[in-house]
This record gives sequence, structure tokens and C-alpha cells, in this order.
Amino acid sequence: MNRAIYLDHAATTPTDPRVLGAMLPYFTEDFGNASSTLYSFGRDARDAVEHSREVLADLLGAKPEEIYFTSGGTESDNWGVMGVAYAKQDKGNHIITSKIEHHAILEPCHFLEKHGFEVTYLPVDKYGLVDPDDVKKAITDKTILITIMHANNEIGTIEPIAEIGAIAREKGIHFHTDAVQTVGRIPVNVDELNVDSLALSAHKFYGPKGVGAMYLRKGARIQPFLRGGGQERGKRASTHNVPGIVGLAKAAELAKIEMEPLAMCLTRQRDRMIEGILTGIPDTQLNGHPTLRLPNNINVSFKGVEGESMVMLLNAKDICVSTGSACTSDSLEPSHVLLAIGLPHELAHASLRLTLGKCIIENQIDYVLEALKGVVSRLREMSPLYDKSPA
Ligand code: PLP
Repeated sequence: MNRAIYLDHAATTPTDPRVLGAMLPYFTEDFGNASSTLYSFGRDARDAVEHSREVLADLLGAKPEEIYFTSGGTESDNWGVMGVAYAKQDKGNHIITSKIEHHAILEPCHFLEKHGFEVTYLPVDKYGLVDPDDVKKAITDKTILITIMHANNEIGTIEPIAEIGAIAREKGIHFHTDAVQTVGRIPVNVDELNVDSLALSAHKFYGPKGVGAMYLRKGARIQPFLRGGGQERGKRASTHNVPGIVGLAKAAELAKIEMEPLAMCLTRQRDRMIEGILTGIPDTQLNGHPTLRLPNNINVSFKGVEGESMVMLLNAKDICVSTGSACTSDSLEPSHVLLAIGLPHELAHASLRLTLGKCIIENQIDYVLEALKGVVSRLREMSPLYDKSPA
């Protein structure tokens, strides 16, 4: 069993044993196809899917018929961008997004740019916040879609989604949000946020990997992304992943009860960790907003130290952290998010993301802080770039 301290809960979380327990029967005795409803196996599977839809809708303040199950955050985001763009191309070809979106949004935007659409990538301020006024100013009579993430996966900044949504609504423009990092971690209510569609993923909140959902407001226009059988009311073909869907719903049910106390505990630990790093290690700076940030996110730049080297040395001390998004951690390019908040290349390369979760315990924070101090000073000793003379 892996006993390392895992601090990369933005990349993924362990499946809660209660979630796994809920899923298991749907692999074996209750294995029916949810579309084969002429007999009991199929009907039981369909009932499980429909119950799951109600549970997830309840977490989001949505109606069950506004929930569509998908294979995860990437599919829901791709669908939100491409499905809406193609459904509304009779009205215009302009999309507004931000420079700090996840690649699950940016890549479909780049694809659409090659196929006749125009995309505005809004800048963010030094904390990573999108200014709603910039959204308003970017709208043209051709704008058909605005897509801004709820919280950033690298720096944890929580965006003013309700305000941006109100602007979109007033202009009759579809508003999508990537809520993959927020659903199950902080309260998400689709009416309060004024969104028309929203992407979420189970493995970010103690559910299984490879399953997610799309919230789509009743009446919103979208083209199907997967075509085939008529599943999900003709909008998303493919045999239902019944165990995954049941797991997603169990994770949502648990989040509804446990999210608030967990968020309070994580916020306290997060702030202790940030304080410990900023006061205990010289030449460090916090990336992201000091308060409008996810309860579990810490992102810090350490002057003169390579992020990858820190990750490797910490791993040798049984601490798992990352330099940023899991999808780009193999890339040598600095993070597009850190560049967008104005970090120079050297500091963007000198950053670590630590994302806390259920499994961290108080004395592990002290261990991590000590280990980090040791690793940073060791790397700085070796670095020709770091000025070692006292300030
Ligand atoms: N959007 C954000 C903000 C994410 O953090 C991630 C995953 O890292 C995704 C989308 C993609 O989600 P999934 O892994 O379920 O495809």
C-alpha cells in the first residue's frame, strides 16, 4: 500500500470506499443495460441511473432532466463549447473565453478557430480574476457563447461567475462554466451562478475516474456530441456507464453532507501551509487570489528553483505534489495560467501546486513544511541562478 503523503487532489482524488461500495453491485449482479428496459435487469439499471440523476441534480439545484451523464470533465467541456457553437452558428460565430481555461476548453476553441469561428481570449488580473466588464466589452452582435471556468485548477482562483452569467443572460448569450474543480468542493448552484451549462467530473470529488456530467438548462440549444443510440434523450449516445454513474451520485450525496465541514478544515490547513511557506522560506510568493480561492489549493513560486526538481526531491521524501495541471506536467512549457497572471518565465518554472484533501492530517503539514524548506535550500545552494547573499 502506498503510504506517501498525497497532495495533488486537483489532479485526482481517491475513490471513497462508500462510493466503491455503492458501485460494486452494478458490475456483477445488477449488470443490466439501462436501455434494455423490457426485463428486470435493464429496468433495475435504468432506475439506478435515474435515481443518480436526481441525486446529482439535487447537489446542483437543477432539475433531473437537465443532467446528462458523460465520460468526464473533458467530454462535458468539449461538448459545451462545440455543441453550443454548432447549434447556434445561424446566430453568429463569436466565442468569449479566458486565457486561463483548462485545455478541455482551450483546445475545442482552437479547433473552432480553424473552422470559421472567432474566439476572444480575455486576460486576467494578477490574481487570475476575469473582469466582468471585460466580458461585457468583448460582446459583439455575433457572440453566441461565453465560457469561463468556475475555479482555476492551477492557482485555485474562484471567478465571478454569477456576475458574468448575469451579463450573458441579459444579452441572451449561452453561458458555459467548467466547474470541474468546484463541484463537490464548494457550493455550486446553477441558478445562483446564472449558467446555461456546466461541466463536472466525479474523480475530483472522491468519485470514480471516467465519469462526469453536463448540466444543460432546459431549452438551451446544443448539438449532440456522441451520435448513435438514443441514450440521454438523444443528446449523448453510448451505453450508460451504470457503475460509474452510481459512483458519481454517491460521491455527490456524500459531498452534499460533508463538503462544508471539509472545506472549513481544508481552508485552515491551507492557510497554515501558505503562512508556513511564505514566512519560513525566503523569496517565495503565493500565486492566485489570497481569499477567493479553492479551500484546498496552494500554489507558490520559489525564486531560483526548478519546479520539476522540487517535485522529484519531495517525491524522494514520500510527498507527492505537482508543478501545475496534470495534463501539462510532462511539458517543458511554462504554465499558460502562470504566464497569464504576469509571472516571468523563470518564476513560472519555479512553481509548485499542493492541493489538499481528506487524507492529510495535521502533523503531516509540519512534515511537509520541513521537507519543503530542506529541498528548497538544497536546490538553491546548487543553483547558479539564485543569489545567496543575504538581502
Ligand atoms: N477542467 C478542469 C478545470 C480540470 O481540472 C480537469 C481535470 O484536470 C478537466 C477539465 C478535465 O476533467 P477530466 O479529467 O474528467 O476529463
